Amino acid sequence: MSRTVYVNGQYLPEEAAKVSVFDRGFLFADAVYEVTAVVNGRLAEYDGHMARLARSCRELNLRLPVSIEALREIHLALIEKNQLQEGGIYLQLSRGSTGDRDFAFPADAEPTLILFTQARPVIHHPCAEKGIKVITCPDLRWHRRDIKTVSLLMACMAKEWAHEKGADDAWLVENGLVTEGSSSNCYIVDANNHVITRPLSNDILHGITRAGLLKLAAQHNLVIEERAFTPEEARHAKEAFISSATTFVWPVVEIDGVTIGDGRPGPLARQLREIYVGMVQAQTAG
Ligand code: PMP
Repeated sequence: MSRTVYVNGQYLPEEAAKVSVFDRGFLFADAVYEVTAVVNGRLAEYDGHMARLARSCRELNLRLPVSIEALREIHLALIEKNQLQEGGIYLQLSRGSTGDRDFAFPADAEPTLILFTQARPVIHHPCAEKGIKVITCPDLRWHRRDIKTVSLLMACMAKEWAHEKGADDAWLVENGLVTEGSSSNCYIVDANNHVITRPLSNDILHGITRAGLLKLAAQHNLVIEERAFTPEEARHAKEAFISSATTFVWPVVEIDGVTIGDGRPGPLARQLREIYVGMVQAQTAG
């Protein structure tokens, strides 16, 4: 069934939605994005995603053409028009088009704002049950990963390399330390049951799911160590897992061909997923 998508103030069937070939998002990846999960037909952690969007815009001097409140109405309208129960809403904002290709920021271009829905299982997903296999590979991205831009070629390549090696995803490594997953934040559990994850900096995206998880973990008296770790430490960890808006928590059961623990999702990853799902269910309850 054709989706209804949003493009610059209009709700259109996806086949009718068009953006200029001169759009700077297309030509220069001069655009930012957000993905917000939808559960029970409602938005999860919406405020966090919009706060990060506003920050990404500020960092790039990119004008958001509508208010955050109006954006909520657009999200809700898309859920309604597409009868979305579970999945995500993708939002992309680019610096627009001046009808030509020119590196310099345009003084007067109207930003391009598009949103569309993606129906997919979130609460019950096979990867949450059985875990995923990851490889590690070099992190070749630019140094402002805290800004959520659409420059995602490295993420595409990393996932491609993972698939070629029979794995599901990749963890990125810089200066001998894991930065983050190709589209997720990374965690390991050490012998003392401490959850270890890289601290916030410009080296990683400040995951909205990560923020929620760390808060919930503290409430449940789990010990969190915010420090970087090596792929070697990860391969020998008791458990490993990832987080992102539409996966929540997925256990990692193999890294670079090395089995983690007994090869099944670990208890802490399971517990954190359960706690997070509980929080989202409460937030999206009718
Ligand atoms: N890091 C990267 C590189 C990502 O692409 C994502 C997902 N957008 C995340 C981390 C997780 O962020 P969030 O929990 O806000 O989805």
